[in-house]
Amino acid sequence: MEKIDILSLTLPELEMHIQEIGEKKFRAKQIFQWLHVKHADSFDKMSNISLSLRTKLDEYFCIKLLNIERKLESSIDNTVKYLYRLSDGMFVETVLMEYNHGLSLCVSTQVGCKMGCKFCASTIAGFERNLLPSEILQQIYRTENDTGKKISGIVLMGIGEPLDNYKNVMRFLELVSCPDGYGLSLRHVTLSTCGIVPKIKQLAEKKLGLTLSVSLHCPDDNGRSEIMPINRTYNIKELIESTKDYIEKTGRRVTYEYAVIDGVNSDRKSAESLAHLIKGINCHVNLIPVNAVKEREYKSSRESAVRFMGYLTDMGINATVRRTLGSDIEAACGQLRREAAKQTEKSGEVN
Ligand code: SAH
Repeated sequence: MEKIDILSLTLPELEMHIQEIGEKKFRAKQIFQWLHVKHADSFDKMSNISLSLRTKLDEYFCIKLLNIERKLESSIDNTVKYLYRLSDGMFVETVLMEYNHGLSLCVSTQVGCKMGCKFCASTIAGFERNLLPSEILQQIYRTENDTGKKISGIVLMGIGEPLDNYKNVMRFLELVSCPDGYGLSLRHVTLSTCGIVPKIKQLAEKKLGLTLSVSLHCPDDNGRSEIMPINRTYNIKELIESTKDYIEKTGRRVTYEYAVIDGVNSDRKSAESLAHLIKGINCHVNLIPVNAVKEREYKSSRESAVRFMGYLTDMGINATVRRTLGSDIEAACGQLRREAAKQTEKSGEVN
């Protein structure tokens, strides 16, 4: 019998399992706190649990661990990039960033990505699998254990498309915000999507209070379909409507992400189309100078992004240029994982 992934269980589910194995219900809460508050990486660490129960837990459950494969630290701004190895030998990336208001962690939700955005390194090597709720949580817990510091905000902006792993991501959100566990308010969580419209609608219904960030990147359908294949399934009009619906249902402001790419979407005309598209929406535009990815010739600069911001501001649109963090350890998201996967292949290592 395969062991149960204990870290992906909600407290009521854990209570049920604990009773099923003949133990008292209150034990579940103790175990839950060991896992989600103290980040215990083995049952042995649970010192207020008897040895016999710990042995029993080990028979029925497993704690899916993530191990640090590589760690790159920026000497400029304290950004730390982790390459984590999953229990099946696959890799994901997690980035810890320092802001004035605290530490923010950018977590991955899938191994690879199916979405095919042309400028994105995460998708080039294709899609492997969805991450489990426990594997998304562990990126937080392992990072906190490693640094000894408390993280104050989570952004679902690492490798993968969170709304393409909807069920596990929703469970992750339930677990991370559970008051008996990690207890993070979802106001400190941002979910970024390339625009899977039906899932945005579903998410709006849940009224979770998290910040929705939409990767728009281009204001016209032809151009957007060219760089983001998802636009051929859900076009800009549908996407904008779904974000309006999200704002209406949740009362939250939406962020539009816009990677400025020279010669593609950086001119004044693009800014005018963008302004026309989002005028009157309770939103913020986050401009990112596109990160160079080895296989693609896309280029940009901070100057282009600042110029584009000027166009938008002139038209009354609220926009900022994202601060570049960790530029000395820059390997656009997804590149570390690909390098590591290639090396594993070469050495014929199977895990
Ligand atoms: N799949 C989600 C979240 C992961 S990507 C999404 O598409 O939103 C996080 C953000 O980084 C997205 O806005 C994505 O479009 C952007 N991004 C990806 N590659 C980039 C690059 N090379 N330069 C700048 N931004 C990039």
